[in-house]
Amino acid sequence: MVSEILEERGCGQYMSNRRLTGFFLSCMMLSIPMAGCTSEIEEILGESWGVPGGLALACLRDDAYRELVIEIDHAPGYNPESSTVSLLKERLGQVCDKPDGIRIELNEVDFSETKTWTADKVRDIGHETMDSSPQTSVLRWHVIMPEGKYSDESVLGVAVDASTIALFSDSIDDATSIFNPRISDEDIENSVMVHEFGHLLGLVNLVYTSPADHEDSEHPGHSNNEDSVMYWAVETVTISAWFSGDLPTEFDQDDLDDLEGMKSGDITTSDQLWTP
Ligand SMILES: [Zn+2]
Repeated sequence: MVSEILEERGCGQYMSNRRLTGFFLSCMMLSIPMAGCTSEIEEILGESWGVPGGLALACLRDDAYRELVIEIDHAPGYNPESSTVSLLKERLGQVCDKPDGIRIELNEVDFSETKTWTADKVRDIGHETMDSSPQTSVLRWHVIMPEGKYSDESVLGVAVDASTIALFSDSIDDATSIFNPRISDEDIENSVMVHEFGHLLGLVNLVYTSPADHEDSEHPGHSNNEDSVMYWAVETVTISAWFSGDLPTEFDQDDLDDLEGMKSGDITTSDQLWTP
């Protein structure tokens, strides 16, 4: 979801402070040794979670991070389809230079929210449940798949900062339509997952300006090509109404050219948490 993304830019510091409060509480309640808390708090204080696309170069290039870990935390019964996991790995492998590989970590998590999600909640709870920081010796991106829906129930997925995504399976189930039985909830989950990771890679025009005219003027941050997984309708509950054939699961040539240009430096990339 990109209107949200654009509105939420620049909130990193604010969220870090709120995250810190949550971290203090969880330290006290869980009786984690205080030494561990202190070092992690220092880490959080100096940490910015950035904007979607803020770790695009860290993924596209291999200079700093040779391995990418995708942590998928799901509520009980909300685990991703195996086809979604393999497709995601394949699509990221096509564009991100990670000689030591892309590793998927699946965890079952009881999230403290089970009904209505906002971007703030995705950030707060996403950061709390993440096993490690985004930038250590590896690059770590995080997906939560909780019970419940986004406050705007038409939204199937959101990218809320440089490393955090949420997919709303309850809404994805609602997005299937008797009018288009060819498209299953599994198909939709496949496309929404790749779409949200496209936002983490900065697509479309989130942290750069494309030389190609492929951003949909009515849906900022999205492609105007219905054959691109970055097409705006992919993350909306009305998805089934917009596609007569199969859903897109691939980045189109303009998307790929943008990513290649960012990686090579031919396209200027802004708001990066890591730069070469
Ligand atoms: Zn989107």
